[in-house]
Amino acid sequence: KVRVRYAPSPTGLLHIGNARSALFNYLFARHHGGDFIIRIEDTDVARNVEGGEESQLTNLKWLGLDWNESPDKGGNYGPYRQLERLELYTKYANELLEKGLAYKEYREDSDKFAIRFKVPENVTYQFDDMVRGTLKFESKEIEDWIIMKDNGIPTYNFAVVVDDHLMEISHVLRGEEHITNTPKQIMVYNAFGWETPVFGHMTIIVNENKKKLSKRDKNVIQFISEYANLGYLPEAMFNFISLLGFSPKGEEEILTQEEIIALFDDKRLSKAPAMFDKEKLAYVNSRYIKKLEVSKLAELARPYLEKENIVIESQEWLETLVGLLQDRLTYIAEIVSLYKAFFHENFVINEEEKQFLVENNSKELLVSMLNAFEAIEFDAPTIEQTIKQVGKDTGIKGKLLFMPARIATTGEMHGPSLPVSLALLGKERIISRIKETIK
Ligand code: GLU
Repeated sequence: KVRVRYAPSPTGLLHIGNARSALFNYLFARHHGGDFIIRIEDTDVARNVEGGEESQLTNLKWLGLDWNESPDKGGNYGPYRQLERLELYTKYANELLEKGLAYKEYREDSDKFAIRFKVPENVTYQFDDMVRGTLKFESKEIEDWIIMKDNGIPTYNFAVVVDDHLMEISHVLRGEEHITNTPKQIMVYNAFGWETPVFGHMTIIVNENKKKLSKRDKNVIQFISEYANLGYLPEAMFNFISLLGFSPKGEEEILTQEEIIALFDDKRLSKAPAMFDKEKLAYVNSRYIKKLEVSKLAELARPYLEKENIVIESQEWLETLVGLLQDRLTYIAEIVSLYKAFFHENFVINEEEKQFLVENNSKELLVSMLNAFEAIEFDAPTIEQTIKQVGKDTGIKGKLLFMPARIATTGEMHGPSLPVSLALLGKERIISRIKETIK
């Protein structure tokens, strides 16, 4: 049975690279109808941070992952935090001592000791990596290494083997920084006579300059919680991250979780570094925003507007606003800047737009429009009808009708639906803008 795990160290927020490891394991498990397990690797005690585990789990849930076994859910192979498994590591380390496959190393003036693994001589460690094919390491390149520190806490390379074995992990899919750990882990499997899992090492993620994405890279948002705070949609993030080093069969890149699970294929994991393409992320997220029901988008946008003390006149007003700007949003927090640009109070018409009005003698048209607007209920359908009526009365059609109207009321040549925009901006503002334009 396929059993895979994501094994974070609770040392900080969920990083995009870790999220990818979690997500690929999840996809692999679900594709094969297997189990996906979360194990907390907290043995590097000094690096653990308060809330680190919770942040990992919360953000994975936000991304839409679920799991079969974990510290919070339990399961038949627990406990799922390494610091709660110390007795097991001690037991197995002692077994290696007894077999003469490991030895004690006393610290000077102390009766405390670390345990070191005795690396066998002249052994070639070879494994078929799911991503990279056959990899080989020579034991003579590896020094005896510590499996248990003198404080009774195991090192990563030892604990990971004990756990993966006892938890019956079938496939270990993780980042390429762990490749050189793999021969050390294989020698522990061999020492106990345990079967090794299948290993796969995903390539690094690089930025647009082909540099490894580092947590200090200021140009790329690195943490899943930051994306959540900006109003990226979890489904979009799931979709985008799943393409970091995996290319599904077919052309389509906008895929639901179910589709990605069905298409997931470890043979299509990329051997070249995965590029974190910010434009692609913006594209993917905007595609998901476009698909939202307006009422849902309104619900998501409301807190961002409220935080800026923007007065939301009514639910209808809000839905009109977000409906109007929906196609322009790449993430929800942008609603604030789009709102501000849209309602900008220092209304100005730039040279090019002015020129258009002059060249087309639009003043007379705008006077008629102003008179007509003054007399009507200012809702979108009525506004639309009125503009058309003014067109009929003046004999002006198409672009020559709508463009002056748009320029005189919004200052722009292009924008979202004009009648809806005008209704939202409100009669008073529109009247005064047209007056300003024709004076
Ligand atoms: N705790 C390790 C890490 O966060 C897990 C590595 C592994 O999957 O074996 O990198």
